[in-house]
Amino acid sequence: MLTPKHTLGDFELTILSDGTYFLDGGSMFGVVPKSLWSKKAQVNERNLMDCGLNSVLVRTGEKNVLIETGIGNKLSDKLKAIYEPQELLMKSFEAAGVSPDEIDIVINSHLHFDHCGWNTTYKDGKAVPTFPNAKYYAQRGEWEHGRKQLERDKISYMSDNYDPLINSGQMQLLTGDAQILPGISVAAYPGHTRNMQGVMIESGGKTACYISDLIPTAAHIDLTWVMAYDLFPLETIESRKRYYSRAIPEQWLTIFTHDHTMPWAYLESPKPGKITVKEIPGS
Ligand SMILES: [Zn+2]
Repeated sequence: MLTPKHTLGDFELTILSDGTYFLDGGSMFGVVPKSLWSKKAQVNERNLMDCGLNSVLVRTGEKNVLIETGIGNKLSDKLKAIYEPQELLMKSFEAAGVSPDEIDIVINSHLHFDHCGWNTTYKDGKAVPTFPNAKYYAQRGEWEHGRKQLERDKISYMSDNYDPLINSGQMQLLTGDAQILPGISVAAYPGHTRNMQGVMIESGGKTACYISDLIPTAAHIDLTWVMAYDLFPLETIESRKRYYSRAIPEQWLTIFTHDHTMPWAYLESPKPGKITVKEIPGS
């Protein structure tokens, strides 16, 4: 397992992958014609795209913070047959020489099953925390939305990923922007869901942002290349504009949640309306 590392001020960032899973190429690019997106993203003979599941471990020197927990190992056999998850996050922990016991804080950008899957694992048929010593954080609005079990997106929410943690008091529900600890905060970026949050990582004058499904892969940096999964596509475009207005001039390191070949990159705008990625050498 590769566990790319990056130093950000006094913090050390490590990508921990849960492997890949399959999503439909058309769903990933919404109204964008395949003749365009197929130049940037590969699909197999069933039109399925290999998508990454990138978590980030932030070692601040005092605390170990885990952003996102992948797809996990609790999917039903039917869903496993559809998504073909590899369930590699614990192997990535081993490869990085970290134990789940050492995680102090877990942050979920939103509560879709492919973002909070390893929050819990089953033990004797009961969902128990994978990170027993961690405090977990998610947005209250996201949880409330998931509980509604609406026809459009109920498949995305698996209560065993968070309800046991909320009931035990181990998960705290946030309302909007919040600082979790010095240098780690969350900021609302609606569009994919109403309450999706990005995670800001700031140290020594440098900034990184886990922007989650606002820009799921490097192939999604065009303002209008919005996933069909997004509940509020017009808001995705507005949130991206707001993100780019700071991330490009301030040289934020952008972390992509579902890109299995490029977990992070800097964004540049060589001319108005055009955005490109600049890969980090050696990562
Ligand atoms: Zn996602």
